Amino acid sequence: MGLRSFFVRNKALFYLYNLLNYKYMEFEKIKDFVKANGLPSYRIAQMREAVYVKGISCWQEASVLPEALRQKLDKEIKILPFELVTLQRSKKEPVFKALLKLNDGNRIETVLMRPGKTWSVCVSSQAGCPLGCAFCATGKMGFKRNLTAEEIADQVLFWYQFIHKEKLAERISNVVFMGMGEPLLNYVNVVESIKNISNPDFLGIGQRHISVSTSGIADKFINLASDLPQVNLAISLHNADDEERTALMPINRRFDLDDIKEALEEYLARTDREVFIEYTVIGGENDSPAHMRKLGKWINSIKDNYLLHVNLIACNPAVGKASAPKEAIIKNFAEALQGMNIGVTVRRSLGSDISAACGQLAAQPVRRRK
Ligand code: SF4
Repeated sequence: MGLRSFFVRNKALFYLYNLLNYKYMEFEKIKDFVKANGLPSYRIAQMREAVYVKGISCWQEASVLPEALRQKLDKEIKILPFELVTLQRSKKEPVFKALLKLNDGNRIETVLMRPGKTWSVCVSSQAGCPLGCAFCATGKMGFKRNLTAEEIADQVLFWYQFIHKEKLAERISNVVFMGMGEPLLNYVNVVESIKNISNPDFLGIGQRHISVSTSGIADKFINLASDLPQVNLAISLHNADDEERTALMPINRRFDLDDIKEALEEYLARTDREVFIEYTVIGGENDSPAHMRKLGKWINSIKDNYLLHVNLIACNPAVGKASAPKEAIIKNFAEALQGMNIGVTVRRSLGSDISAACGQLAAQPVRRRK
């Protein structure tokens, strides 16, 4: 009988076997630490539980471990790969935004929000973004670097610690890749981070509760379909006219509407999963009846379009071309799309008072009022 099959027969031992063999970012350091210090292997399970179940934010809080061990861990192993710079709390809505400093000094933002009854985390996948969309504050920062899988997944761990400390909830239910950066340009690390976020031994958030939002990096749709078929895909379209879309989102020069359509059809055929078309309605920019008709026509030209669902979001003033549309215009837009047999939801973007809404993340420290 092989070693693995021996462990599989015993559930408790199998759990330990998984822990000992699973390669999870910072957890590797813990395993090395246990080995280097000649500690018994059950300490690994205790440390995992302290971090990923109890949500400790320093080793001193891990009361299951002896004091001397806690002190040594506090000196040698950081639980998170970044430091909190500022934390903002919305006065209007259940939304929090954290500015985090990475080990190399780069800064990112991450958001915790409760759009309904459950808590969601919006993670960043890059420090800055190379794509320069006209309505987006992150795009104006330029590109600094890709985040590691650990830096991405640990944004969720950071908020997990936070909800426990603040006694807001027991768990985080959803994760959306809608923060800073284009996730499909950091594909390998994003996939790795999602595997970690969804691993039941660690953060354990089901892949159907994780959404990746892309500006349309069409050559990665198929990879996503085979690597993470359960994860939700959202495509930020924002305009169904190539020339106008290029002005809003320069990436359209590389992947235009035909490229997106072709990749999307293949994605739908392979996954049979609903895909969300995100359309930020920008006042005076993409909100006319002609824009609405073009969007409807483009969607209806796609094979299996019954799997597409449009999310209309009122633009948050951030930079450049961004200005909020009139409420009636969004309503008309939604009704017209429904009239074309297209599923549509008007979504509220939360956290605009702390610049935590879509397109507003810019990794700027909070200025104190005089
Ligand atoms: S909207 Fe997304 S892809 Fe475009 S610049 Fe901002 S972060 Fe980058």
